[in-house]
Amino acid sequence: MPDVLATLEADRSKLLEEFLRLGDLRPGSITAVVRRCGKPSCHCAKPNDAGHDPQFRLTRREAGRTVTESFPNPAALRRAQQEVTEFHRLQKLSEDLVSINEKICELRPVVQQRGGWTDQERKRLLQSIRKLPGM
Ligand SMILES: [Zn+2]
Repeated sequence: MPDVLATLEADRSKLLEEFLRLGDLRPGSITAVVRRCGKPSCHCAKPNDAGHDPQFRLTRREAGRTVTESFPNPAALRRAQQEVTEFHRLQKLSEDLVSINEKICELRPVVQQRGGWTDQERKRLLQSIRKLPGM
């Protein structure tokens, strides 16, 4: 099925171009923390009240710990949202790239070379197979 293979390769090229269009990116997720001032007479003390201006934070995992970052102004928050969105685009693109490559690997015919394995290739191959863990 050479047509399918060619189509997949063209799709892969398009996908790789998408990587070039990625902007600044970084991992993390942005959460809003509702602020309550603690005064019992305040509206924020009532259940289901939206509280005061929510505080936005970016949290991310770093070496097994959660790192939290707050934003000094709305512009910094908007930029961080964009950066996180771009990071998610990167993840999606990476997944798509791997899955399209898996299909390509499956369909690509193996070019048969004359003579098959050489003794040296056979030896090296057997050695590498024996080194696989759990085998
Ligand atoms: Zn309050």
